[in-house]
Amino acid sequence: KNLNMTILITGGAGFIGSNFINYFLKEHPSFKIVNLDKLTYAGDLTNVKDLPNHADYTFVKGDICDRSQLEKLFKQYDFKSVIHFAAESHVDNSIHNPDAFMQTNVLGTFNLLDVAKNHWMRGSRTIKQGYEEARFHHISTDEVYGSLGATGLFTENTPYAPNSPYSASKASSDMVVRSYFHTYGMNVVTTNCSNNYGPKQHDEKLIPTIIRKALTGEQIPIYGDGKNVRDWLYVEDHCKGIDLVFQHGKPGETYNIGGNNERNNLHIAHTICEILDKKVPKKVSYESQITFVNDRPGHDFRYAIDASKIERDLGWKAKENFESGIQKTIDWYIAKYKK
Ligand code: NAD
Repeated sequence: KNLNMTILITGGAGFIGSNFINYFLKEHPSFKIVNLDKLTYAGDLTNVKDLPNHADYTFVKGDICDRSQLEKLFKQYDFKSVIHFAAESHVDNSIHNPDAFMQTNVLGTFNLLDVAKNHWMRGSRTIKQGYEEARFHHISTDEVYGSLGATGLFTENTPYAPNSPYSASKASSDMVVRSYFHTYGMNVVTTNCSNNYGPKQHDEKLIPTIIRKALTGEQIPIYGDGKNVRDWLYVEDHCKGIDLVFQHGKPGETYNIGGNNERNNLHIAHTICEILDKKVPKKVSYESQITFVNDRPGHDFRYAIDASKIERDLGWKAKENFESGIQKTIDWYIAKYKK
């Protein structure tokens, strides 16, 4: 393995990217990281303020849609690989403002991929000569597969059937990444992960919203009848999966990450309320704040992942189940919202 190499990480001020940078620098102290992030409303530099001491880390504010900035950065740092997290990530926002999702998720991913390809193929070099180094890891979601009924699991062979502008934009970006493998022989890998939760997630997302509204005494909003099911993965387990695929995944392959933690939204709200009742007790249970609100349009009923490929081929296994991961998550948000 070529250590001491510089990796470009995009979107590293966001939820998963920042958890990944922390995880990766602890696991692999000899890598250098450049974190390129636009700092949209979802990016927060306090997410990357506690990196390990030794960290060889640089932050650059910038937009993956800005091709000339990307070209300059590739020239300056001669990146040997890219791990691409940057995206507009909130389904509800994509319903009201799909434009930014198409710009960043589709065109931004294309830009980044194309600049990387040109850099790695420059001169007489083909990508294959730099194969070990020139890896582009695209981070995606299980939402590209659409919605499941009460049974069944998404595998890597499930046909794409995205239903929201968010998942459609991610599905498009996955296809562009795929095409760069088949057309140019570029060393790409894609991971499609289920719903993440854990420290540093933006306030807008379901679990931070439930915890925050509970603690501030507001109504806890649950879409529809609360029966929609998601497969929940603790963010550090996702980071472990990304690390394995980044280092050992087969070029051109996709890997699903997640599994065995299907919970419906109402169950999540009840679990969080029960834990808060113990950790931050008050006279009436937090459960009394749960309120049903109009369902999200086009709300997918169920997502569930078959992760047997990454388990079998790369030895990945989640450490946390929902009940253990949520305890740590709640502790982190209690500390955050107390400040
Ligand atoms: P996030 O919204 O918390 O973070 C996204 C980051 O990208 C932010 O720091 C933002 O400033 C940055 N960004 C946005 N547009 C940019 C642009 N044009 N140029 C540069 N930076 C830009 O998102 P997240 O939850 O951390 O998700 C990260 C990735 O993982 C996304 O690609 C998402 O689709 C994928 N994913 C998320 C989940 C989940 O449950 N959160 C699950 C599976 C996959």
